[in-house]
Amino acid sequence: METSDSRQTIRQQIIDLLGSDTLTVRDLSQAVSIPEKEVMEHLGHIERSVRNQGKKLMKTPYKCLLCGFVFDNRIRFSKPGRCPSCKKSHIQTARYHIE
Ligand SMILES: [Zn+2]
Repeated sequence: METSDSRQTIRQQIIDLLGSDTLTVRDLSQAVSIPEKEVMEHLGHIERSVRNQGKKLMKTPYKCLLCGFVFDNRIRFSKPGRCPSCKKSHIQTARYHIE
């Protein structure tokens, strides 16, 4: 069981990483050694907390590599299963950055 302190520390590490680089959920998961699912939870909180600091979590959306369909309105951070346009599953992973 994680303490709230260690969760805070991990969240700050993610904020620091995204402040200097553009990264995927997988990159972040490996960098801070937590599962991708937890990274996604942190990103939801981070999006709100950086807004309070006058910053913004920039999202490069998921995109279909075959037809170019962009998952523009996706508010979840999890990867879409397949493209609603061409029904294929060659999806480019979303990337995140704080500026
Ligand atoms: Zn497509």
